[in-house]
Amino acid sequence: ASNGDHKSSKPPPTPSPLRNSKFSQSNMRILVTGGAGFIGSHLVDKLMENEKNEVIVADNYFTGSKDNIRKWIGHPRFELIRHDVTEPLLVEVDQIYHLACPASPIFYKHNPVKTIKTNVIGTLNMLGLAKRVGARILLTSTSEVYGDPLVHPQPESYWGNVNPIGVRSCYDEGKRVAETLMFDYHRQHGIEIRIARIFNTYGPRMNIDDGRVVSNFIAQALRDEPLTVQAPGTQTRSFCYVSDMVDGLVRLMEGENTGPINIGNPGEFTMIELAETVKELINPKIEIKMVENTPDDPRQRKPDITNAKKMLGWEPKIKLRDGLPLMEADFRLRLGVAKKL
Ligand code: NAD
Ligand code: UDP
Ligand code: UDP
Repeated sequence: ASNGDHKSSKPPPTPSPLRNSKFSQSNMRILVTGGAGFIGSHLVDKLMENEKNEVIVADNYFTGSKDNIRKWIGHPRFELIRHDVTEPLLVEVDQIYHLACPASPIFYKHNPVKTIKTNVIGTLNMLGLAKRVGARILLTSTSEVYGDPLVHPQPESYWGNVNPIGVRSCYDEGKRVAETLMFDYHRQHGIEIRIARIFNTYGPRMNIDDGRVVSNFIAQALRDEPLTVQAPGTQTRSFCYVSDMVDGLVRLMEGENTGPINIGNPGEFTMIELAETVKELINPKIEIKMVENTPDDPRQRKPDITNAKKMLGWEPKIKLRDGLPLMEADFRLRLGVAKKL
């Protein structure tokens, strides 16, 4: 459902010269902001599989790492720029996957003002870039735009229940403004936009100590530490394996719909159930401990993915029980904990 019927006050941007050049009829130059992060680095892997793609990563390494994309450094179709998206960026590209933003609550709360700047000024800059070069831009928004949702599961038409002044607001409200900016550039300047509302995603390369629940539980299980379930433990989340996520993002970028479109796995678990599953699969001797929660923790979250199925022909393939062991293997390598036979 494109909103392209709105009258633009300015003529549509000229298409990128690169896209029209006779030398690069089907070649794509793609910018991935936040490409050194968890989801971004898996996206880069997928984009690099296509020999027609040139990939430029712009990242300030706040929560990402060169290690995540080390295998591409030096590749002729790959370029890495240390860059903070709150500063203007001049590159010539056909597509922009705009992921740059810390995603884990402990990191985005660490410097909330910077988180807002990244969401607002960072997205503004990427839209200015998209406008100048005529690129299509995809924003990785979040299920957090639904806040502590009063509708369950959450369809894209739900406007959310968000605290504007809470400790999570720098992220939630920042992403909401980023979505607004995307639609205003679309309506006012004719920019081609795509918005993904990403639900909790997990998999290899997550920061080991980034405080998110799946990475916490797996690291704790491997370190023989108790699994810390934050009270009451009956709050729910729906976890999507990262390869499914990246597949959904690329389909959205290549498709015809602006979105916003929910991308996530509708399999819903309480945090107690998640802890029990990790315990059973990874370390049956481990204790499960109830600890204090943080403010404004959403009580339930589950995507309605009717639109993703219909418009993108997408649905997740990997179940939590199949994805957790893949992540365990990566964490074992990085923590140097061998599997007991
Ligand atoms: P991540 O923290 O691993 O990756 C974010 C990347 O952005 C990092 O490499 C970081 O260094 C970079 N970055 C942060 N601020 C920057 C700035 N100002 N300039 C340049 N680079 C900057 O997080 P992720 O899980 O890979 O998330 C990627 C995107 O997906 C984010 O936009 C996030 O909001 C969104 N998202 C993720 C989830 C999830 O469960 N992982 C859920 C919803 C939305
Ligand atoms: N911008 C950028 N790269 C570009 C073009 C623009 O980073 O290639 C930034 C620019 O610095 C500005 C923002 O994007 O802060 C919005 O640009 P736009 O042209 O829409 O607005 P204006 O510059 O007129 O405020
Ligand atoms: N959580 C938990 N133990 C932890 C970390 C998080 O029980 O060690 C809970 C947290 O209270 C929340 C859920 O897990 O209800 C998901 O938290 P996370 O930070 O992973 O993601 P988000 O809140 O952004 O969905």
